[in-house]
Amino acid sequence: MDTVIEQAQDFTDEELAELLEKNSEQQDQALFQKADAVRRMYYGDKVFIRGLIEFTNYCRNDCFYCGIRKGNGQARRYRLTEDEILRCCREGYALGFRTFVLQGGEDAFFTDERMCGIVSDIRGGFPDCAITLSVGEKPKESYAAFFRAGADRYLLRHETADDWHYRKLHPSGMSLENRKRCLYDLKEIGFQVGSGFMVGSPYQTTGHIIKDLRFLQELAPDMIGIGPYISHAQTPFREFENGTLTLTLRLIAVLRLMFPYALIPATTALGSIDPEGREKGLKAGANVVMPNLSPEGVRKWYDLYENKISTGEEAAQCRALLEKRVEEAGYRVVTERGDVRRRL
Ligand code: SAH
Repeated sequence: MDTVIEQAQDFTDEELAELLEKNSEQQDQALFQKADAVRRMYYGDKVFIRGLIEFTNYCRNDCFYCGIRKGNGQARRYRLTEDEILRCCREGYALGFRTFVLQGGEDAFFTDERMCGIVSDIRGGFPDCAITLSVGEKPKESYAAFFRAGADRYLLRHETADDWHYRKLHPSGMSLENRKRCLYDLKEIGFQVGSGFMVGSPYQTTGHIIKDLRFLQELAPDMIGIGPYISHAQTPFREFENGTLTLTLRLIAVLRLMFPYALIPATTALGSIDPEGREKGLKAGANVVMPNLSPEGVRKWYDLYENKISTGEEAAQCRALLEKRVEEAGYRVVTERGDVRRRL
């Protein structure tokens, strides 16, 4: 029998609700410890690093939670040139990064042709690196073209697996159905796929989160990214509370137990709501960090939410600091590509 299936823990809905909702220090500690043990079984003490290049904050979408939504007239917009993107990769390579993540808004300037040109130039210049794209919803042919150009991985959070909730978070015209279609297309093409959702997003209930976990079981993604929802003053959700550290950590641990093989980042959003959020995330089962490799001048403009960190260990340039903090947490930064490990 498949080892993955043997190891993966299957919780009932009731068990999940209890793990997520019950305020018990003892229960949390036991949960984090178990998640840490499973993570070590699959990945030892390794922490994989990804260089995040936020290459455009122009976006055609108007997601109600996001600071770079089209409707935010106050956002200072920027896009990097191909040369600037390649410069980020060169700098990242020298710092030991072997995965580059190109993330951006859905920016029509970056046509398939332009994206493919950029991807194939990175592929040619850095044959030993993984290229991850995170540029939103596209037709299947576009994804296939990106893959042929040399991209290996794709990040597209499903955001919420509940139709009603999806419509509360997005304007009409966007649909959960299309988001899911994209994820299955990406998988079929051969990408290593990452999905995930925000924790504590407006209107989210425990029932929605359980649905998210069930959807992830069906999709079986290679990477799962979650982080707390953090409000932004120039969005319709400005009045909503942020998601909490505690619930995010519980969910990271639950994800590690349900998806022992998965690459799970301690996200920037987690680091932004707590000065030790990243380290706490690692201790709860996360095994990836994605420091910012964008040119320093533009970092503050990729403001998905308020007080998004981009300095200190968050800056790719501060790898030594990151290494130290990861070691203090009990883990080790490695420079390998860090592909998913599906089997023990
Ligand atoms: N356009 C790309 C990249 C989006 S930004 C795409 O559609 O996939 C990456 C992620 O940031 C989003 O998927 C969302 O989950 C998260 N995000 C956006 N706004 C946020 C907020 N206010 N708080 C926390 N996370 C947010």
